[in-house]
Amino acid sequence: MTDFKRDGSHLAYCPPVEKWDDWVELDPESWPKRVEKHYQLVPTVCFNCESACGLLAYVNRASGKIEKFEGNPRHPASRGRLCAKGPATINQIHDPDRILYPMKRSGPRGAGKWTRTSWDEVLETFGGRIRQAIQAGRGNEVMYHVGRPGHDFIMDRTLQAWGIDGHNSHTNVCSSSARLGYLLWHYADRPSPDPANARFILLLSAHLESGHYFNPHAQRIIEGKMAGAKLAVMDPRLSNTASMADYWLPSYPGTEAAVLLAMAKVILDENRFDAAFVKDWTNWEELEIDGFHAKGRSFESAMEALKKHYARFTPQFAASESGVKSEVIVQIAREIAAAGSRFASHLWRGSASGNLGGWQSARALTLLHALTGSIGTEGGHNLNSWNKFVPRPFRVPPPQKHWNELLYPREWPLSTHEMSFLLPHFLKEGRGHVEAYFTRVFNPVWTYPDGFSWIEMLRDEGKIGLHAALTPTWNETAVFADYVLPMGFSSERHDLMSQESYAGQWIGFRQPVNRVLRERAGQKFEYTYQANPGEVWEEDEFWINLSWAIDPDGSMGIRQYFESPDRPGEKLTVDEYYGWMFEHSVPGLPEAASKEGLTALQYMRKYGAFEVTRDVYKRNETPLTSLDLAGASVAPNGVIGKQGKSMGVMLGGKPVVGYNTPSRKLELFSRTIADWKWPEFALPEYYRSHIHKAAQSAAMGEAPEDFDPRYTPCVVWPRDARGEVYTLLPIFRLPNLIHTRSGNAKFLYEISHKNPLWMNPADANKIGGVRTGELVKVHTEIGYFVLHAWVTEGLAPGVVACSHHLGRWRLNEDDQIERMSSAFVDLKQVGNGQWKMRQVQPVSSYETSDPDTHRVWWGDAGVHQNLTFPVHPDPVSGMHCWHQLVRVEKALPEDRYGDIFVDTNLSFAVYERWKALARPGPGPDGLRRPLWMPRAVRPEDSAYYVKK
Ligand code: SF4
Repeated sequence: MTDFKRDGSHLAYCPPVEKWDDWVELDPESWPKRVEKHYQLVPTVCFNCESACGLLAYVNRASGKIEKFEGNPRHPASRGRLCAKGPATINQIHDPDRILYPMKRSGPRGAGKWTRTSWDEVLETFGGRIRQAIQAGRGNEVMYHVGRPGHDFIMDRTLQAWGIDGHNSHTNVCSSSARLGYLLWHYADRPSPDPANARFILLLSAHLESGHYFNPHAQRIIEGKMAGAKLAVMDPRLSNTASMADYWLPSYPGTEAAVLLAMAKVILDENRFDAAFVKDWTNWEELEIDGFHAKGRSFESAMEALKKHYARFTPQFAASESGVKSEVIVQIAREIAAAGSRFASHLWRGSASGNLGGWQSARALTLLHALTGSIGTEGGHNLNSWNKFVPRPFRVPPPQKHWNELLYPREWPLSTHEMSFLLPHFLKEGRGHVEAYFTRVFNPVWTYPDGFSWIEMLRDEGKIGLHAALTPTWNETAVFADYVLPMGFSSERHDLMSQESYAGQWIGFRQPVNRVLRERAGQKFEYTYQANPGEVWEEDEFWINLSWAIDPDGSMGIRQYFESPDRPGEKLTVDEYYGWMFEHSVPGLPEAASKEGLTALQYMRKYGAFEVTRDVYKRNETPLTSLDLAGASVAPNGVIGKQGKSMGVMLGGKPVVGYNTPSRKLELFSRTIADWKWPEFALPEYYRSHIHKAAQSAAMGEAPEDFDPRYTPCVVWPRDARGEVYTLLPIFRLPNLIHTRSGNAKFLYEISHKNPLWMNPADANKIGGVRTGELVKVHTEIGYFVLHAWVTEGLAPGVVACSHHLGRWRLNEDDQIERMSSAFVDLKQVGNGQWKMRQVQPVSSYETSDPDTHRVWWGDAGVHQNLTFPVHPDPVSGMHCWHQLVRVEKALPEDRYGDIFVDTNLSFAVYERWKALARPGPGPDGLRRPLWMPRAVRPEDSAYYVKK
């Protein structure tokens, strides 16, 4: 029994592992009586963002009920700390309106009528349809479309076992733009910064409040700051992150690359760059700029050519583009140079995802790292591929032989990920058909731009044959599916997670808490849904069983990958799948486990996480062994190749592995971009976004001389659009909401349930003196939405902003999408492609088995904006460019809060205008995309070539 002391000295920040089996706390509800509560603590991994922080489920030993979630101190990335969304998992698992059983629609798609069905029926139906498609050579008509991934490798393995090119993702509405910028430099498509050890930190994302790998990164940024690092934040909005900074740089959106290149110019001109690093580790010898060819020339002459090339990026030019003062740009450039190898930064969404050409922000930012020699260093910029650890499972299938042009069409050969947000437009153009469609924790009707085009596609059985929504919660897309299949939250499923949270590698193990505890007590379960609430399942077992349903007798060659490694011909279990991997593919784990007399699987079930390595720096300098070099040759430029592929580079006369780029060096000059029809972007550059002031003038019929229609499509508003022109920033996240998965997290919705339009007072005055709380109407190119204004000086003039995450709706009055987070709406198709939505009933209290639903005091569900956005595919990266040029006016008497109107004919026209900017493949040698560029689930090399 714990000795409770009045001075509080018994209090622990996190319960130590040795007390996890019987952790004792006083019951707060029994106060002032001192009643003890005994818990068993079971580790799992949070599912409420990509960070994968470690959770501890507190299971009441008396009732067997999970009562709360707190942080797992043994998790190396989150170290016992969580954001608000982690503990809110308790709301999700006890939500009285959650989906508990597999459901099948019983009326037309979208009519909201459902009946309960069985997992066997689901497996039989989908197994049969997929088997037929594969056997008829139509395997590419099977598509898996993932929103929140949350596990590594198992889905890739499944799709490759089926032999299909069917992996689609949400990445091109999220991060593919920044990924391209990083990828072109060093092949790794994400940075892994080391802010805890940095001297200067520059953020172009809201990393302290909501960014990628938010909690693990945020705590390390603060550590760096507490140790004396300075923090600069470039963001037009005075975000919570900017409010913590030493320097807030409120740049005009889309001009970030100009500011970064001006900093690079200062560092170059003042010779503050790390010449030895640039000489050794960039491919400066390949520079071909402005008539200068570096081949055979000196390093110094190449640097002079570089200085000349960037001469136009004076701090004054950057200031006039961005609004950031030139002296601040110079000062920060010097501080970055002084930090040298201890300069850390991050950019993920923000400027990269909002803007046409946003990928150049990541490229320009990495140029600062190359110049300061801060790549691969302690306190610098590392590579995600060095810090993320994905163990290989047993028996990996070969890559698929096919290429699916619905995923990677020819127009965008350099897109880092699938052109997923254009699926409705591709099907409208007659490019294909999807026979079996799985959406996984994915809600494109709500999260994607142009959601009404998604509804039109999903309702059309000629386009989508059979659709299953695998989801833990109701969402606006699931209501248009044929099947809604309940999948578990953090404490109800297995997954293996790893992220680049710091300069080390770790794995985290998500596990179904009830099943684990009951199996510890001696019970046996064939499937996780037998231990979960209702029949909530998990994907791992679903895919294993579906694969058996597709290939019941093994004759298609699929079943073999889903058979036990130890029991020939028997069905694989999750214990066998993970147990094999932990035992064979995670260095150090079996040894750590055996020290405690455990198997590797038992160790992971006990601790929930394992650190594989730490202090991972300079992987590029890893020496090649004589074994590696057998049969290899060295080209005149020092690149070491074997069997037609580069594998290393000579550094100071020694063979090292280098980077995975064609030159094995950091690619200051991208031959790839030049060869794939964008030679003007072979170096990091800046070009104006679609929301630049020049584009605004062009949209008003006054195109300035410097408006270049080769890069920028002209905005055309509907004829009845009125009001002043602004740039709308629609993608900032609220730190405590989870895209569309917080609808059943009452703690979170109580905190955040409004998304007004941020407006600078000067802009509010321009449209008739709008005040906070008054209604404004925002016109996009395809429609409008109506919401409240919030007048604030926390935003630069000329820019308005509205947060992501809010504006949930439901089509059924009493169910399907939680009533505490959604407005009941009247949705009407009022003409061909014309849609109108009006909120009929706001949020209000209601009766369920949870007394808190009776206590709901807020009435706002927010207003949805993404429906009114047309698609904007960046011609190079393929990323949807989220920012919008809008016109804003005071709402008219007939307008009501939450009104939305959209014309999908107009959205299709915008799609065609943007598509026309692309420079389609094939590229050199008839390739669909460069062979060196990765894909999420990569087919065999032969599929990269267009068949003649
Ligand atoms: S940052 Fe928050 S939501 Fe994301 S995994 Fe960690 S606790 Fe969960």
